[in-house]
Amino acid sequence: MALASEGMVAYLDSAATTPLRSEALEAMLPLLTEGFGNPSGAHAVARAARKALDEAREQVAELLGARPAEVVFTSGGTEADNLAVLGGHAARPGAVVCSAIEHHAVLHAAATLGARTAPVTAEGVIDLDALAGLLSSEVSLVAVMAANNEVGTVQPVPAVADLVAEHAPQAQMVCDAVQAFSWLDVAQLTARVGLVTVSAHKFGGPKGVGALVVRRGSRVRPILHGGGQEHDRRSGTHNVAGVVGMAAAMAATAAERTAVVERVGRLRDRLADGLVAAVPGVVETGSRRHKIAGNCHVTIAGVEAEALLVLLDAEGICASAASACASGATQPSHVLAAMGIDGPRAAGALRLSLGRASTEGDVDAALAAIPPAVERLRSGESTGFGR
Ligand code: PLP
Repeated sequence: MALASEGMVAYLDSAATTPLRSEALEAMLPLLTEGFGNPSGAHAVARAARKALDEAREQVAELLGARPAEVVFTSGGTEADNLAVLGGHAARPGAVVCSAIEHHAVLHAAATLGARTAPVTAEGVIDLDALAGLLSSEVSLVAVMAANNEVGTVQPVPAVADLVAEHAPQAQMVCDAVQAFSWLDVAQLTARVGLVTVSAHKFGGPKGVGALVVRRGSRVRPILHGGGQEHDRRSGTHNVAGVVGMAAAMAATAAERTAVVERVGRLRDRLADGLVAAVPGVVETGSRRHKIAGNCHVTIAGVEAEALLVLLDAEGICASAASACASGATQPSHVLAAMGIDGPRAAGALRLSLGRASTEGDVDAALAAIPPAVERLRSGESTGFGR
């Protein structure tokens, strides 16, 4: 099999996914081989798998500031978000409010419940006054993410919890912390949030596994029915290796978080400053003081991001546009629109997301490749894009 990473010069798409950490791989291998048991069974092989699952649950719970019984393992962030929103609403029906910049896993699930969206400021931070205006005793669920996946803005989750307690005391609060765990102490940030979601592949764990914390006092109705695993909150045979890998990646991430945030934050600053200095018409999105350390998001005037990505890909630079492609059509980013960024500017949005594996060399490569690529596009030279 040809490895897709051959020819890769710089991976700057850590918000999309991250490489598997060695700690996760090592922890998983025994569960993928001799430890293959189904933890719901009673015999020795099953009991060994159950033990591994229980130990991972304790570790995940501790790192998220929860009790083991409050952790529900899922197939990833999307399922955890859907269980929090749809399952939370089913357990406690009422009006739903979410921020306008939620990931689609929350936004689209909430939309099926007729949710109202709270605006954000031009900096990409939820407008707390506007949120307060949407809250009332009728509201039963409020979703505000910890860190945004496109522009990296950190949301004032404790202040949101204060407002919810004051204006919608019956409401369950949902916090999608999928992008946050690498950079922020999620246990502390979400200490007063009933429903919190994470996804392993965003912090060096395997894909297809995540968790929802359901704190005491919060409730979800299952959206997957079957064998009654996870205290009847999420049926389906456990992905034991995945859960164990997630726990190992979580522990390693939390242990080195402070140092990584500092180092990667410096790399991000050099990248963003370098782009602004080298390319006229580059504007940074949102203020760095509100952002996670790994996020460098810019808009580049007069450039179509998709065309730029093709040129960068040819140079071995993996980056992303902050727009979603649905059935071949590029959709303008709902996050940028909510920040008041108009369509033409949003079309030139480039997200360069760094991670723990990012290096000075990655930044050098991006700073060497992006200015000439922008120049080529601006001069109207054909890139072959769109043929
Ligand atoms: N929430 C946020 C903020 C995300 O960035 C993502 C993934 O991009 C998800 C949820 C979905 O997670 P998963 O890929 O595990 O389904």
